[in-house]
Amino acid sequence: MNVTGAAALEVDRLDRVFDVSSPFLNRVLYRQGRRYLHAVNDVSFTVPKGGCLSLVGESGCGKSTVARLVTGIYRPSAGEIRFAPGRSGQPLSAQMIFQDPYASLNPRWRVKNIIAEPLRELKLRDTEAAISDRVAELLTVVGLSVADGEKFPHEFSGGQRQRISIARALASEPEFLVCDEPTSALDVSVQAQILNLMRRLQDELGLTYLFISHDLSVVRHMSDRIAVMYLGRIVEQAETEVLFADPKHPYTRLLLETIPDVNSPNRDRRTVAGEVPSPLAPPSGCTFHPRCPLAQNRCKTERPALDSKSDGASVACHFA
Ligand code: SF4
Repeated sequence: MNVTGAAALEVDRLDRVFDVSSPFLNRVLYRQGRRYLHAVNDVSFTVPKGGCLSLVGESGCGKSTVARLVTGIYRPSAGEIRFAPGRSGQPLSAQMIFQDPYASLNPRWRVKNIIAEPLRELKLRDTEAAISDRVAELLTVVGLSVADGEKFPHEFSGGQRQRISIARALASEPEFLVCDEPTSALDVSVQAQILNLMRRLQDELGLTYLFISHDLSVVRHMSDRIAVMYLGRIVEQAETEVLFADPKHPYTRLLLETIPDVNSPNRDRRTVAGEVPSPLAPPSGCTFHPRCPLAQNRCKTERPALDSKSDGASVACHFA
């Protein structure tokens, strides 16, 4: 990876609150108040140009909401999202690769038209011949054949469909890709192929990634830096090697323990006990305290701040 050190994206104290109140008439009839869901709470991170930052956590931790905020699908309730200028001098814009490639591809369109759509919409090629040439080039870049352009999405396997999604995302010549669980719907062997493809494209095209996953083992070989999220907040953030060698937050340690180890397949693997609490009624103090094996009384009342450590990690735990 060709990481320059300059920031491609800076996210500063990002908040997103959803109004999930019942309809007005129900609130009046049943004397209900308004209800708010704080999906993303005071989240800050930086993604360097040419690098990959991964957001990791269980379902409902707010990582996909961050992805949608960064791509402009949602507006922030507070905080800032700042993209650096790209090669054109204009601020970078993010393209998104979704979890379910089948749902994100129009089933009635031939693949060549799916990939050509951004070229036509953004007027990136002047003639139909130039569009066809570019579609053929993109199909080849992602490991498909030019003849595949004549087929429909249902004629492909899950891994091939994700290759089509990547080709379409690349059609608009992005420098920044937000990848929301791009391999979680795929078999393990196919996951590895797609991750290898994404790494190769990152090197060849100088792409910057914000990668979203529930699985630390998936992001290990993709990421320069990992941020672990829990109930809308970052609870630990560190360089990838630091996080795997010396995880400091109890939640990160439990997530790591769930990863299978080929060297000791019979090792006792603990799972993270209990369910993620409802973000509509988050626990007091440290929101991880009902599930934390190290919780003490202080944890129930006092929320830990995200503190910086000497190895560059930052951790939100009173006893890290
Ligand atoms: Fe566990 Fe307390 Fe640390 Fe929260 S602050 S992670 S409850 S030890």
